[in-house]
Amino acid sequence: MIVAIDGPAASGKSTTAQGVAKKLGFLYLDTGAMYRAVTLAVLEAGVKPSDEAGVETVLGEVTLSFELEDLSTQILLNAKDVSGPIRGLEVTRNVSAVSALLVVREKMVAIQRQIGGGQDSVVEGRDIGTVVFPRAEFKFYVTADYETRAARRQWDLKQLGIERSLQVIVEDLKRRDIKDSQREHSPLTKPEDAIEIDTTKLTIQEQINTIVDSVKSESE
Ligand code: C5P
Repeated sequence: MIVAIDGPAASGKSTTAQGVAKKLGFLYLDTGAMYRAVTLAVLEAGVKPSDEAGVETVLGEVTLSFELEDLSTQILLNAKDVSGPIRGLEVTRNVSAVSALLVVREKMVAIQRQIGGGQDSVVEGRDIGTVVFPRAEFKFYVTADYETRAARRQWDLKQLGIERSLQVIVEDLKRRDIKDSQREHSPLTKPEDAIEIDTTKLTIQEQINTIVDSVKSESE
């Protein structure tokens, strides 16, 4: 069974998806982390995100592997754990450009289908319910207003020792939303058959329970 959770950056997707996976005993797959790892590899190779041929070469040269235990998506790039570095600002600023490339999407989607298709999974991203698993049994689209999303992102960054004003964060989020939703391949969009959850005024437990209750009531 696949529970697909899509939505824009800092909407509450990851925390919700992890909590849902824990309660249901499903695998948790963070597809954003995969695009971030590719972006880190591209930046480390000194290749511009807009250079599709260069990115393709990098994709062919690096080894990406995943450890999907304890409700986290640990990513190894050339056998090195990059779960921390992929959250940095450089990667965040460039990930939308790298993930817009077809060559990157095709490779990542194939891996996602292979991992999620083999077991009950909660898969979060931007195109899970539309492209990766269009026949997922459950689809949710998580949103929140910009102020709430920026405040959440500010808190996340603070944990990494990075101070950013709310205004700068809102601008970054808007820029990323535009790039993610206007790209040619697999743009961020609400799947027609998804249930939308606005997390602006919800607690984390309420977000998780909304999805878990809906999955449980329909699977009974
Ligand atoms: O979820 P997160 O913010 O970590 O995702 C980082 C970026 O990866 C997104 O802004 C988007 O550009 C890309 N992404 C994507 N498709 C997905 C998941 C993430 O294009 N399924």
